[in-house]
Amino acid sequence: MNLPSLLAAMPKAELHIHIEGSLEPELIFQLAQRNGVALPYASVEDLRRAYAFSNLQSFLDIYYAGASVLLHEQDFYDMAWAYLQKAAAENVIRAEIFFDPQTHTARGVAMETVIRGLSRACRDAQKIGVEAELILCFLRHLSEEDAFETLEQALPFREHFIGVGLDSSELGHPPEKFARVFAKCRQQGLHLVAHAGEEGPPAYVWAALDVLHVERIDHGVQSAKDPALMKRLAQDRIPLTVCPLSNLKLCVFPTLAQHNLRELLDAGLCATVNSDDPAYFGGYMNANFLQTFAATGLDAQHAYRLARNSFEGSFADASQKQRAIARLDEVFATHVV
Ligand SMILES: [Zn+2]
Repeated sequence: MNLPSLLAAMPKAELHIHIEGSLEPELIFQLAQRNGVALPYASVEDLRRAYAFSNLQSFLDIYYAGASVLLHEQDFYDMAWAYLQKAAAENVIRAEIFFDPQTHTARGVAMETVIRGLSRACRDAQKIGVEAELILCFLRHLSEEDAFETLEQALPFREHFIGVGLDSSELGHPPEKFARVFAKCRQQGLHLVAHAGEEGPPAYVWAALDVLHVERIDHGVQSAKDPALMKRLAQDRIPLTVCPLSNLKLCVFPTLAQHNLRELLDAGLCATVNSDDPAYFGGYMNANFLQTFAATGLDAQHAYRLARNSFEGSFADASQKQRAIARLDEVFATHVV
């Protein structure tokens, strides 16, 4: 089996996927029609053309416009189900899926509608071989007070999500802004993750670790600028959910060949590959693996390490992790590259 086939065939976990970022233009148009929502784009092609954004903020503007078509529980189900089917086809056997409730509750959609639709799709995913869990993300450009209110609304549905995260515009919104709400989530026994060091400085990664007490860093690629931080991340085996095609599209790195994934792995970090917002950034999991490996010359050992990291860095229980790693070992043992 050659390297591209191995990358596609190996079982893997996706730990950094925003479900609203998996909305393809076709589904946006379909839901807009079903719900009678007027879109500021004439056609699917017109919307696709608008995806030529160049930084985080211009992307987020389109992202929020796309999410406006989601109104009913079935819409949230359909969005998640479309992603989970793709995940299954790409041998993603575990997905820890972010959702942004504030994007919906701010438009008058009830928290219950959002969570029930997504949760039902996650349950059904077992039938197609994917373990799926939800992580509620707070939008960091909004206030901590707003995050507290969101948490209050979500707690009645506590059994439907395993953790909380922090996403949206990073610069100017350091982790410290959410210290109290993360402390409360920690008391609730929720897993904690946060976006840090995507566009923001290493200081944001330190603060995510030491102020918010997160278990994983989402992105974290800017950590490479700080040797002491790299040492800390390696020593504590803090997983980094790296998203190469997203970094390329948002100009975090000028080319994929210049991406620092190899540097992170060589430094002993628990780095993983993820798709972030696949509908907007040009590819799902396997496209991220294939294009990054082609551009950077990573090999089969790196592939094994990345897939293994994805299971070790996941919030699956010990026996689930063991089973997943055994499946991974089997694929590598039976397929010589
Ligand atoms: Zn993200």
